[in-house]
Amino acid sequence: MQLTFTDYTFGASVATALVLTAPEVLVATGDALTDGESLHAFLTEHGIAPGDRPATGTDLDDVRALRTRVRDVVAAPNEEAIVEGANQLLRVARTVPFLARHDGTWTWRLETAPESTLADDLAVVIGTGLLGTVASLGPSRFRSCESPSCNGIFVDTSRAGRRRFCMPQVCGNRVNVANFRARRRREQQDHPGTGPADAG
Ligand SMILES: [Zn+2]
Repeated sequence: MQLTFTDYTFGASVATALVLTAPEVLVATGDALTDGESLHAFLTEHGIAPGDRPATGTDLDDVRALRTRVRDVVAAPNEEAIVEGANQLLRVARTVPFLARHDGTWTWRLETAPESTLADDLAVVIGTGLLGTVASLGPSRFRSCESPSCNGIFVDTSRAGRRRFCMPQVCGNRVNVANFRARRRREQQDHPGTGPADAG
């Protein structure tokens, strides 16, 4: 597998997406990676060519194990631990750096050894993404979801760096709804005469 490691945001987004497939995050629906097919769908959805051979049960076990390691790296207590963990991810597969033209520009690329497994390749994608994030944006971009009912963690590679939720559409909305309800309860307690129950 070949990949560019100048675009760290790609690998960082794959790291976040992989961590968010875990059952401890998807408490209601359970593990999103349950068989070769769901693994294949995950890889395709995130722009990783799964290679010539279909994902096997062993690949699934390996990717789930990688998921646990990636979570530990993203949730590591300090930047040294993040960098050490991400460096380890890169040591799994033997990789060769080289320069190639990509869209007319000379670009640094990596190639993993032909015998490396799907999980090895994924570890390289994620490892380069996490290291690039630390180098370019700093360790404050490794965060826990602010929703009190969510175990998600994520890497914020946005320009502004103000992302608060692992799945903004889900966790952000949940918090907004809870805040809205709490505000309405407070307003009704402060002004009991204005509630609909007192009408008439
Ligand atoms: Zn969340």
